[in-house]
Amino acid sequence: MQTSLPETYLATPEGQRAESVLRSCVHCGFCNATCPTYQLLGDELDGPRGRIYLIKEMLEQDAASDVTGRHLDRCLTCRACETTCPSGVAYGELLEIGRNYLEANRPRSFRERFLRRWLLRVVPNPGAFAFWSSLGRLAKPFLSARLRRQLPARARRSSFVAPEIENPAGTVLLLDGCVQRTATPAVNDTLERLLAARQIRVLRLKDEGCCGGLALHLGEEAAALATMTAGLDRIVPVLDQVDAVISTASGCGVTLKDYGRLLAQDGARSRQAQALADKIMDVGEYLTALGGDWSRASESTRVALHLPCTLQHGQRQGSHPSVLLEAAGYELVATRDDHLCCGSAGSYALLQPELSETLGENKLAALSGEDPDVIATANVGCQMHLGGLAGVPVRHWVELLAVPEAGG
Ligand code: SF4
Ligand code: SF4
Repeated sequence: MQTSLPETYLATPEGQRAESVLRSCVHCGFCNATCPTYQLLGDELDGPRGRIYLIKEMLEQDAASDVTGRHLDRCLTCRACETTCPSGVAYGELLEIGRNYLEANRPRSFRERFLRRWLLRVVPNPGAFAFWSSLGRLAKPFLSARLRRQLPARARRSSFVAPEIENPAGTVLLLDGCVQRTATPAVNDTLERLLAARQIRVLRLKDEGCCGGLALHLGEEAAALATMTAGLDRIVPVLDQVDAVISTASGCGVTLKDYGRLLAQDGARSRQAQALADKIMDVGEYLTALGGDWSRASESTRVALHLPCTLQHGQRQGSHPSVLLEAAGYELVATRDDHLCCGSAGSYALLQPELSETLGENKLAALSGEDPDVIATANVGCQMHLGGLAGVPVRHWVELLAVPEAGG
């Protein structure tokens, strides 16, 4: 694609990256075929190719319009288009540049600003998120059906304390994530037990903080970078002690794996950011590398597996959960449209509720054709979103693995 970005913009790292991504697109349109919003809305501007054009025009003319804002807001950041693109266009990076530009140059309505500020203050803060979740449960009878479905159920961490392991086979840092620690703490509790039984020492941070993914997707560049550097500073002191840093929320993992790029301009921290990114592993990657036998934790045997976009398109690590679940003795039932987003997409369910709900219902139908006993996924957002709509339990796949007796 030909570009004519302003010289002043081309002199910046964003300008150079934008130009390189734009030039790699040959506007073939293959990506539209797997774009969930293009499929739903049938509008070229709600597909990746159209959004790439909008970003190009905006950057070339140095003009952020409402039309561009509307179509970029509707993008799920699912990156299915990247998986499909034969030219390797880094759409996600271009979208990030486009959103940062829009937020810096186009005012939003009071309602939008309020909601986005609220999200940025509450979601990455486990205390605030737990408070608002409790408040929501108290006010449940007065909430709309849609909001009721998005409320996380009350959940507590288990009282499990891993026994001291004298000669550990490995040491990992297990990240709790900001939403996951409140909404689904059982996931990491199960994993800590699984790892303890394999003689893996697990470290967890008390004040881990947020990965910055939410602010990044909202185009709040300064807030995203501040959150990332604060989180990095908390992790760095233990980084040399661990073989891997494990995330069970693929939405956090995909951001953390990108820290080297995201913090490349941050002087001394850029090396630390890359060192962290090099050690981040999705739980599926880690358990596969660990090897050994797995068994079923559940009487229910028929599982429909939903792979979050952040795992299959963002991290390209979608193969592990199915292999591990089958090795544990589960039957994975046939599903369709596995590449499509469930509509959760971070804060999308709150910011684009109609599209999010339609995508969620479509995903549920695609997962339920063979009447599974349980739906398994790999990210807290998808688990909450589908859990609010599904008639069967929706679990993180790690919870379906049986914890062996210690030493077993
Ligand atoms: S992003 Fe890739 S698939 Fe989409 S139009 Fe550009 S080159 Fe074609
Ligand atoms: S990230 Fe997802 S929703 Fe956005 S353009 Fe790509 S495929 Fe479409």
